[in-house]
Amino acid sequence: MASVLAPDPTGPVSDRRDQAVRAAVQQELLTETEPVAALLDIAGIRASAAALTAAFAEVTDAPVLHAFAVKASPLVPVLRLLHEAGLGAEVASPGELALARAAGVPPERIVLDSPAKTPAELREALALGIAVNADNPQELARLDGLTAAGATAAPLGLRVNPQVGGGAIGALSTATATSKFGVALRDEGARAWVVQAFLARPWLTRLHTHTGSQGVPLDLMAAGVRAAYELAEEINAAAGRRQIDTIDIGGGLPVNFASDEETPRFADYARLLAAEVPGLFDGRYGLVTEFGRSLLAKHGTVLARVEYAKSSGSRPIAVTHAGVQVATRTVYDQAAWPLRIVAYDPRGDRKAGPPVEQDVAGPACFAGDLLAVKRPLPLLAQGDIVAALDTGAYYFAHHYAYNSLVRPGVYGFIGRADGSVAFATVRGPQTVEEIVGEAGGGHPDALLIT
Ligand SMILES: *Cc1c(COP(=O)(O)O)cnc(C)c1O
Repeated sequence: MASVLAPDPTGPVSDRRDQAVRAAVQQELLTETEPVAALLDIAGIRASAAALTAAFAEVTDAPVLHAFAVKASPLVPVLRLLHEAGLGAEVASPGELALARAAGVPPERIVLDSPAKTPAELREALALGIAVNADNPQELARLDGLTAAGATAAPLGLRVNPQVGGGAIGALSTATATSKFGVALRDEGARAWVVQAFLARPWLTRLHTHTGSQGVPLDLMAAGVRAAYELAEEINAAAGRRQIDTIDIGGGLPVNFASDEETPRFADYARLLAAEVPGLFDGRYGLVTEFGRSLLAKHGTVLARVEYAKSSGSRPIAVTHAGVQVATRTVYDQAAWPLRIVAYDPRGDRKAGPPVEQDVAGPACFAGDLLAVKRPLPLLAQGDIVAALDTGAYYFAHHYAYNSLVRPGVYGFIGRADGSVAFATVRGPQTVEEIVGEAGGGHPDALLIT
């Protein structure tokens, strides 16, 4: 496992990161009392947003809404930064919708996709004019009722599961034969049903598909998009008009967790789609994309102090403050979600020394709370700092409240011309008072009823 991860990254990205780590220590974002903190590379996020926009502009003149999948980084200033960079928001819960609105994303740049939307959510979305992709026939029936009750400006669509197969990570593969998402297109009678469902609903104008996330190969993603495109063509031919005017191709571009290299690139995927599904880009259809991880993952870093360095069974173990609460997927599934770890000294300088196989442990009280196992790193000592790289999506913004560990502060950073690094607070560290409050601390007697 460790061998696939670049042990000692060098290059412009790592230089920027090293500079930020040093500045974070100097500016006391990481201290004895705040021993874990998360950094976001603002320049990197802007560059990824620009790369996505440019990738599709290169292959089509059609209008494209790049709706960032809010679940990948549900932080209001991040959504605002992406909005300023020209992106919209894909939301899948009332909370995510509220975050997008708090960030100032206008309704016409929001897409609602959850598989379990309540009647109230649907009503709100239609009232606001937010695009909705229905997941299933029962949800379409709800939309029938709501559209009959009054006109809406909201573009409405249907999610289909092309059933093209799964990727390397089962839990993130949404186009398997039995996936819970969308209308399973290859099930008996389903395709004909979908065509009829559109013909019966002139207001249904979009098709949506999302083939999966990390672990799904590009050609499988493209096959899913092609299936949606071919279905749109079939429906429009049956309707005798361009009823479907927009195809939402979902997100899911995988991220390279093994080095600082950003591969595959948005441009690779856009070109592959242009080759595999040329009709999608000829201007007859508007497009929506929903990338999440590929926009944010590479731009986040968790920093944690080494509280103790010990050994057990002759295995060196660095006990740090970053574990399951900030890297839940990695801790529970090391094989699927390995993270690169970089060692820094207490001043935030890159630590040198011969690689020693050691465990990098988290603070939680269960034996499996390990960020890395037998990882060759310079031998970590008390007071050192470890950095868990590529954690900008689905990691520190997805706090797991085990052991009532506080949510760490999240800080954006940007390098200045004079060589200094400026930080902006995205989210301050949670306090223990907040933890007590959220744990019923305001009404300790609640269960003393008889
Ligand atoms: C999770 C999700 C996305 C984003 O996936 P990434 O792998 O983060 O790009 C997009 N669309 C839908 C419907 C999703 O569920």
